[in-house]
Amino acid sequence: MTMNNYNEKEVILNNGVKMPILGFGVYQIPSEATKQAVLEALKVGYRHIDTAQAYFNEAEVGEAIAESGIPREDIFLTTKIWIDNYGYEKAKASIDESFRKLKADYVDLFLLHQPFSDYYGAYRALEDAYREGKVRAIGVSNFYPDRLSDIVAFTEIKPQVNQVETHPFNQQIEAQENMIKNNVQLESWASFAEGRNNIFTNPVLMDIAKKYNKSTAQVMIRWQVQRGIVCLTKSVRPERMAENFDVMNFELSADDMARIQSLDTKTSLFFSHQDPDTVDFFINLVKERRNK
Ligand code: NAP
Repeated sequence: MTMNNYNEKEVILNNGVKMPILGFGVYQIPSEATKQAVLEALKVGYRHIDTAQAYFNEAEVGEAIAESGIPREDIFLTTKIWIDNYGYEKAKASIDESFRKLKADYVDLFLLHQPFSDYYGAYRALEDAYREGKVRAIGVSNFYPDRLSDIVAFTEIKPQVNQVETHPFNQQIEAQENMIKNNVQLESWASFAEGRNNIFTNPVLMDIAKKYNKSTAQVMIRWQVQRGIVCLTKSVRPERMAENFDVMNFELSADDMARIQSLDTKTSLFFSHQDPDTVDFFINLVKERRNK
């Protein structure tokens, strides 16, 4: 992506694949509400949908895409392998299961959801799916700079994308520099920090929003677009989906970008993937699910 053209609607990944810069995420949308939400998002104009095996709504995403009447090739579809399915053989089987649920012949982007357990084995399954033409791009999520540099160094097909928590309170400035160095596209999750720390009414964001006659949500998305970040947001409300999609008609000044940068705490509002307690949390989650 040319950083001078802030209204570019797509970024170009390291393998030449184009990816829409705005995406609609379906995390925490109950499966029974997902089909409707995705249909609304597509109606608003989104052509990039982000789901995951762990969201338990891949099937409903697939139904919405099929029912929308929009040609499949016009939609950029992402899903992710969950830790339970790591290791080469299990990952391979789970990739096919995702295709079945999504009713898809191919997926545009398949990610490793977390940097734990046998993710190298799972990544090799992704590489094979890529070579077979079943996925157009592969990548990782929640890989902090140390893990990202490692997987870039020791894999044949370099990840195209790394999806990490990114919002005004946790901006990933150094992590983004490392991704640029490694030719990996930064994609944001929790672009609104899921509303934590009163982000929608933060005084700095409110002041900037007022100046451009926009909402704080639009300012947060626009700030990511101007940083060249692929930005995911979630809403179940069509009016908010439309608001979140309407960010290509204004430009934040360098001063306002710097004011937003001053909000960075460089700390996760959720959990650090480098904290042993977080690792334990994920390991226990896998164990609990296996015992069910
Ligand atoms: P988010 O987009 O930061 O925030 C969603 C929250 O903001 C919801 O409560 C939503 O409420 C509200 N909201 C949306 N638009 C709004 C607006 N214009 N004004 C006021 N409130 C608004 O959170 P997220 O869903 O966690 O992140 C986005 C996507 O990233 C996910 O859906 C998922 O695809 C991905 N993600 C990935 C990971 C990962 O580990 N890879 C982790 C988390 C998320 P309503 O729905 O009621 O509007």
